[in-house]
Amino acid sequence: MLEIVSYRNPFKLILGILLTSSCICLQVEPVKADDSLQAKRDQMIRLIEQDVLETSAYLKRSSLDRRVLEAMARVPRHEFVPTDLVDRAYLNRPLPIGHGQTISQPYIVAIMTDLLDLKPQHKVLEIGTGSGYQAAVLAALETRVWSIEIIEPLGQQAKTRLQRLGFDSVEVRIGDGYYGWPEHAPFDAIIVTAAANHIPPPLVKQLAVGGKMIIPVGSRFSTQELILITRVNEDELVTRLVLPVRFVPLTGGH
Ligand code: SAM
Repeated sequence: MLEIVSYRNPFKLILGILLTSSCICLQVEPVKADDSLQAKRDQMIRLIEQDVLETSAYLKRSSLDRRVLEAMARVPRHEFVPTDLVDRAYLNRPLPIGHGQTISQPYIVAIMTDLLDLKPQHKVLEIGTGSGYQAAVLAALETRVWSIEIIEPLGQQAKTRLQRLGFDSVEVRIGDGYYGWPEHAPFDAIIVTAAANHIPPPLVKQLAVGGKMIIPVGSRFSTQELILITRVNEDELVTRLVLPVRFVPLTGGH
């Protein structure tokens, strides 16, 4: 099974661990929120900041928007992982969430969110709801989120979880995110959390002028490139290669 990992140190090319696909992950009743976990969340933020510093040459910045880190310091990641992995929820690692999928590494969630340059009330489209964690981080930034998941049980679990935790500004739909959600377009930001082998034209079409899309692009069998696309005007896009990454593939019939 592929995992989302980052080059924590560009010189050492640390790709992180590949978790085995035999890992059995049950989504069961989440653990009650616990304030004692705040210290672990704060430690996770420090690890993200350290990774950002180490990859600053790629990111072209040495720190992230405080609002993004503050949002991640509030969202209870332990609620989004299987109960048997709760004690690992605040490691700066991706974790399996069942169905061969993963909750992304916190550092990756942080930089992808940061690059979208989000403002309150922005309309955000997420492709690949997974556990719902990334959607919750987006919502914690006071954005309105539409999120699409192709694996029905994951999408249903995420929907229930997000509702239970009070993330009311997130709407989850089951479907193939390649085609976006045209009924709610245009979006100020689009975040794709699975690797596509090309940039999906329907998503580009649904990006507002001034909007940003972040997407990993490349082969499912190797490292991909995280790409930031900005729509400058109706006819012009600017693309920037940000960082080598490794994501699970964007599936579907396209
Ligand atoms: N954002 C998620 C989170 O916070 O837990 C992690 C996403 S996981 C790395 C990638 C997700 O993309 C998987 O749940 C997978 O089922 C989903 N996916 C893959 N192809 C898809 C598609 N065409 N449309 C929608 N979701 C897709």
